[in-house]
Amino acid sequence: MPSSVRTTTLPCGEAIPVLGQGTWKMGEDSRRRADEVRALKLGLDLGVTLIDTAEMYADGGAEVLVAEAIAWRRDETFLVSKVLPSNASRAGVRRACENSLKRLRTDRIDLYLLHWPGSVPLTETVEAFEALKQAGKIRHWGVSNFDTDEMQELVLLSDGDKVQTNQVLYNLVRRGPEFDLSPWMRKRGIPLMAYSPVEQGALAHNARLAEVAARHGASAAQIALAWVMRQDDVIAIPKAGSQEHVRQNVAALDIRLTHQDIADLDRASPQPTRKRGLEMI
Ligand code: NAP
Repeated sequence: MPSSVRTTTLPCGEAIPVLGQGTWKMGEDSRRRADEVRALKLGLDLGVTLIDTAEMYADGGAEVLVAEAIAWRRDETFLVSKVLPSNASRAGVRRACENSLKRLRTDRIDLYLLHWPGSVPLTETVEAFEALKQAGKIRHWGVSNFDTDEMQELVLLSDGDKVQTNQVLYNLVRRGPEFDLSPWMRKRGIPLMAYSPVEQGALAHNARLAEVAARHGASAAQIALAWVMRQDDVIAIPKAGSQEHVRQNVAALDIRLTHQDIADLDRASPQPTRKRGLEMI
């Protein structure tokens, strides 16, 4: 892995890059497909080896596209996928995982997440994840869109403390997790995976970010990413459908925000001073 990509450590002790590649909306438009595959491949070339996908994306089409991008490069990739809450029963998880493995054309998923909390008792989903681990179908598991109380409940379950991450909506204009979720996760050594770090592209047009960006000769989107990754234990997983965006996102790893930058961004978008329910996109 090129030295430019910093890593953070999962509770299991494994190091993973703090910058990954998202894939939501990939595989939906055949006219963009070749660009999307090329973008993911370039990301791998540049050391962004964590790829985030889900059975939900493009109804499995994103996983098929990921398979194409990582063909012959499976061992250098850290593959994250997600099971829908409607498939979170014991048999459902097993089936969903088999289907994801087929689409991804691999024998294992590195990190398998429950996409959001649902109605299946969590104990059952955790048991199913642990069984998949035993069978070698997944290496680790985690959750997504879990608020603090849900994380607290999870870690009290049998094997619940094996959770490796919680993937949540977190960016400059979605700072809710900073109130109690990220401090709680930090105390337990569980890295936070920040999805929609560019607010689905909107932060590329944010005026305050553009002001800070001008000081660094960078773009607003790059500052949005540097802001998320200013914390050692936060992983940003922007989705980039073009090689140019991938290059820019990798370059964001080299941006060091100053105290002045951080203070200006805090004024524009203050830290939360009270609990807000976790937002989801
Ligand atoms: P995002 O990464 O915040 O934004 C993606 C948008 O930003 C795309 O339109 C992309 O354009 C644009 N972009 C990327 N890099 C850019 C750059 N350097 N300059 C300007 N624009 C740039 O939003 P997201 O896709 O919602 O979130 C990222 C990933 O998180 C998803 O793809 C998915 O893997 C994951 N996610 C998970 C959940 C969950 O519930 N667990 C929910 C949402 C997302 P181009 O495509 O044209 O490059």
